[in-house]
Amino acid sequence: MASLASLNLQHRRKQHLFTQAHIDKLVDAGVADHVTAAIPAWTGVADPGKAAEMVEARQRAAVLRHIAEVATAFPAAGLQGVDFQFVPTRTPNAFTARVAKDDSYAIGLDYAVPNLLHTLFVAAMLAHQTGNFDFFGTGCARLVSLFHVGRPAPGLEEDLLMLHEVYRNTPESTRAIIDGFGRSVVEFVITHELGHIALGHFLRAKAPSLSTPQAGPIDISAFDHQREFDADAWAMEALLRVAGDDPRRLTFAAAVPFLSMTMMSFASRLHEPATDIGRLLRDTHPPEAERAARLRALAAKQTERVPVTNALALLVKIDRFLYDHIGH
Ligand SMILES: [Zn+2]
Repeated sequence: MASLASLNLQHRRKQHLFTQAHIDKLVDAGVADHVTAAIPAWTGVADPGKAAEMVEARQRAAVLRHIAEVATAFPAAGLQGVDFQFVPTRTPNAFTARVAKDDSYAIGLDYAVPNLLHTLFVAAMLAHQTGNFDFFGTGCARLVSLFHVGRPAPGLEEDLLMLHEVYRNTPESTRAIIDGFGRSVVEFVITHELGHIALGHFLRAKAPSLSTPQAGPIDISAFDHQREFDADAWAMEALLRVAGDDPRRLTFAAAVPFLSMTMMSFASRLHEPATDIGRLLRDTHPPEAERAARLRALAAKQTERVPVTNALALLVKIDRFLYDHIGH
């Protein structure tokens, strides 16, 4: 079973985008849980590289549990043994690598995605609460600069401190929605990739190939627009199925896909992809705004299955607010 690790795509994060002085300041302010670079403080491990590995290992285990859950719910879909690794793609999309010679699959996701989306959601919520889109627009621009371009933007530190204050002063019930969004958005992008495998896209369509020293050519999940829409639809259905009758999980399964795409439709305007995989995904995937529109329409058909909860109402209102301001 080839994994991304054996394909030499795995990368141990040794570099940190913040200086130690930045990190100390953010830790003092209690922002540590928002910033990957500041994780030594809350893992209790002094060495930032080791602390990053610990957090990544925990997040990776959660993703593998999710893949196993979906594989169990769809036993005939061929998802058993799909591997997962964090890889530095600097793009908010996951991708699947297939090694043709042993027909094995591994999904890759940039390290920054879980924290980026969690923080962006706080910014979106604040923008919606205050009616001021700039809280999202400016915050998004600065975060994209940090995570996807690799340069901390002026004002970023103040943004993170402010967003952390918002997070900390948010009632427990709303904070659970923020945390749930962060988890669910990762589950959605991973499940979209599982959709490509389950729907047989690699076997029926020509996927672009990258050559790797150890494993030879690998196929990357970049297809035509219709297959991307189909993988999105498969992912939403799969998330609804594994949610069972849990109202909270049903809410996230229905609403997180379109809301995250609305958020990313703005973020993707702010930077040029910096990696080959990032460019490949940008050039082959339909615009996020169009994916958001289709996912929104699919979610609207789920009213009998998805109960109207406070969380659902909030996610729908935030989506509407961003959509009205971004324009398409
Ligand atoms: Zn895709």
